[in-house]
Amino acid sequence: MRTRQIVLASRPMGMPTADNLRFEEKVTEDLKDGEVLLKSWFISVDPYMRGRMNESKSYAKPYQVDEPFRGSIIARVVESKSNLFSADDLVVGDLPWMTYITTSAENLRKIDPGIAHPGYYLGILGMPGLTAFFGMKDIGKPRAGETVVVSGAAGAVGIVAGQIARIHGCKVVGIAGSDEKCQMIKSEFGFNEAINYKTEKNIRKALKAVCSDGVDIYFDNVGGDITMGAIDNLNFHSRVIVCGQISQYNNTRFAMVPDILPRVLTRSILIKGFIVRNYGDRYDEGYAWLTEKVKSGELNYKQTIIKGFDKLPETFLGLFSGINQGKLMVEAE
Ligand code: NAP
Repeated sequence: MRTRQIVLASRPMGMPTADNLRFEEKVTEDLKDGEVLLKSWFISVDPYMRGRMNESKSYAKPYQVDEPFRGSIIARVVESKSNLFSADDLVVGDLPWMTYITTSAENLRKIDPGIAHPGYYLGILGMPGLTAFFGMKDIGKPRAGETVVVSGAAGAVGIVAGQIARIHGCKVVGIAGSDEKCQMIKSEFGFNEAINYKTEKNIRKALKAVCSDGVDIYFDNVGGDITMGAIDNLNFHSRVIVCGQISQYNNTRFAMVPDILPRVLTRSILIKGFIVRNYGDRYDEGYAWLTEKVKSGELNYKQTIIKGFDKLPETFLGLFSGINQGKLMVEAE
């Protein structure tokens, strides 16, 4: 079977371009016992993939030059030599960016398209949903009446984090990069207020205007100036969930910001970074909660689906210009 794949052609300096990725064609390997042949359907693009394009050591192993990109993919089983899966099953797994994939059946998870659109298993019922769940509930510990600010609020993680805070009875303020996104998080996801950071130059003042009681929880997806504006509004005993720093991922130098520490001290602020994998032994708890809330309609979701395997490089790069509302993915078939 002929398959197409996308490999890392070269490591970027700063903002990546399509030239850092390369399409190739090859023939799939013969199926061995315990393996399945998969056809890719929905392929996730995620901000953490930018870090894996660098050589430097991090929590996720760097992609190797001339080797395929990889990440979460929803795929259909075409042929199975494993007793775990049959032809036509839908599975999700950490897989290479290929149209057809021969892989071990271990580490794949069967998904139920009867519960939700298959793409949800890349978003709210997948890694981004778990990230919002553990970050908000375990670190943020929201209480009714508190004020919660979420940056990157219209994205895969942000819309879930904001809704979890809303379910806990909090006032929720989102920060996003367009008027459409701000309108969406209020009308479709129940955020109380929204700030467009691209037109609102003074985030500190804008937050102060809508958070009359200050900020109790800041769920940080972006870092940089937006985060500095949020930190200025934090209350005594507030919590900062450092989930992502997308505004910094293409920087070639990293700034340290010790000048926030006096405020952290005097207001007894908790600032905690985390990686969702830290909660690997509690994923079932997260999946169960999120699935129940999706089924009951308490949690809504949004996906931006770009059609065509060929569109993967530009779709991935689109994360850094904000082309998506909710979870961004490519439909390969
Ligand atoms: P996403 O929000 O669906 O997509 C990325 C969004 O980031 C874009 O749509 C864009 O929205 C915004 N953005 C891009 N460049 C920006 C900049 N310079 N300043 C401010 N916003 C910018 O992505 P996601 O999957 O939900 O991930 C959100 C964050 O969580 C990322 O930082 C990611 O690395 C992190 N994350 C962490 C974990 C963990 O385990 N800690 C797990 C998953 C994700 P706008 O139009 O609003 O700018």
